[in-house]
Amino acid sequence: MRLILLGPPGAGKGTQAKRLEERFGIAQISTGDMLRAEVKSGSEIGREAKAIMESGALVPDAIITAMLAKRVQQADCARGFILDGFPRTVPQAEALDVMLRENGMALGHVIELAVDDAALVDRIAGRFTCGKCGAGYHDSFKPTAKPGICDACGSTEFVRRADDKAETVGARLDAYHRQTAPLLPYYAAQGKLKQVDGMAEMDEVTRQVVAVLEGASP
Ligand code: ADP
Ligand code: ADP
Ligand code: ZN
Repeated sequence: MRLILLGPPGAGKGTQAKRLEERFGIAQISTGDMLRAEVKSGSEIGREAKAIMESGALVPDAIITAMLAKRVQQADCARGFILDGFPRTVPQAEALDVMLRENGMALGHVIELAVDDAALVDRIAGRFTCGKCGAGYHDSFKPTAKPGICDACGSTEFVRRADDKAETVGARLDAYHRQTAPLLPYYAAQGKLKQVDGMAEMDEVTRQVVAVLEGASP
């Protein structure tokens, strides 16, 4: 099973990808997470990407596609993977098509999580994650069960992304509409695009995504 979760920043791609990873035993590949790890480690890629990410723009295609080409060959991808945040431009999608062909892999569904821009601002502003295990939360929509304690691992340290501040969200949404939205017709033309109502509550979104993947009507 190889799929793409497509949608604007804050649509719920990471949230759903983690659930699918658990349910189907396939790897979540988040290019955003990979880039944040590069920034943290101070690598050459990280040094190049940091300022771009903080501005809300996209990192150059060449860096991303090289990073991804290595990632899909790792052992945990053998059973399949969920692409979360990649591709984000038409050249990235074209590079992915070539990469899959060269590895004898086929792409299943491309699932669009459709969410209104107005809702995205609230989702991004309230987003935080556990600093230890990476579990994702939201101030209003998914608070921790006990205040200040991670449900998954008990840690009391949480992090908020530098680019999740209000000033950057506009630039990120703009990048989505200009550079990423053209992927919708790209995959529709391949007959792979399925739309799910990303405005629904998290469990309902999961139900709709699983229905697509299991071939039932949504
Ligand atoms: P979100 O899902 O909230 O949009 P991500 O974690 O996917 O955020 O990405 C954070 C930032 O990392 C993006 O704004 C962009 O700068 C960079 N990035 C991640 N994936 C890509 C990609 N496929 N191509 C270019 N830039 C990317
Ligand atoms: P993305 O990876 O697409 O940028 P996330 O999965 O990180 O998005 O979700 C953004 C924020 O919105 C997180 O704080 C998450 O807990 C919350 N969230 C995700 N899905 C929903 C939903 N269906 N309804 C309300 N909040 C959601
Ligand atoms: Zn945790």
